Amino acid sequence: MTLTNNTSLYTALARTAALKSGSTASNSSSGSSTDFTQLFLTMMMTMNMNKNSDSDSGSGSSFGLDINTLIMPIMMNLLEKMQSQQLRGERTQAVGSAPTPAGTPVSGVLTQAYHSGHNGLDFGIVEGTEIKSTMDGKVIYSGWNTQGYGNLVIVENGDYQTYYAHLSSLNLQVGDTVRKGMTLGLSGNTGNSTGPHLHYEIRRNGIAIDPTRLTLNTETGMTV
Ligand SMILES: [Zn+2]
Repeated sequence: MTLTNNTSLYTALARTAALKSGSTASNSSSGSSTDFTQLFLTMMMTMNMNKNSDSDSGSGSSFGLDINTLIMPIMMNLLEKMQSQQLRGERTQAVGSAPTPAGTPVSGVLTQAYHSGHNGLDFGIVEGTEIKSTMDGKVIYSGWNTQGYGNLVIVENGDYQTYYAHLSSLNLQVGDTVRKGMTLGLSGNTGNSTGPHLHYEIRRNGIAIDPTRLTLNTETGMTV
């Protein structure tokens, strides 16, 4: 293979690769596995060309430089795509055998129901009662909250977040994996609270929903 043939072939490949790189960048939101396959094939072919031109001509340094500048944007594009897909997966994928909240976080008297001025359920209990997670998930908050929740734990799984407020002590840290029934902390009277109780809240995609059915449905025996 002569250098002239290599050059024309390389130019054709470069055009194809540049075209693919441009098209995937503009369509990044609808990236498919076909795009990946095509990009990888192009990259592999281009790299093989580089090897061949080195051995044939004996002076492939200028080729190497051109190919590097061609490949880098494609690889960066692929990397960004993979990372964004991974992040999306981590944020939305539900995990565990109990991925949705069910049952009560504590045995106690319901002292305030859910209504337009109250985002959750209040359970009257003595301070120091163990508060248990109502679902599998991950701790995304465990600490002091300045908006009235006092010591607050938030467990997330997929679209769901469960809030456990006014606690006296906290057992877990952000990032900890939680199983349904695991103790998150001890109940208390911290924050905007007029007496010892647990304020329990269920949110879906950050918006508080009425937790009554999921929490107090005794027919299905959903208690922890
Ligand atoms: Zn409350």
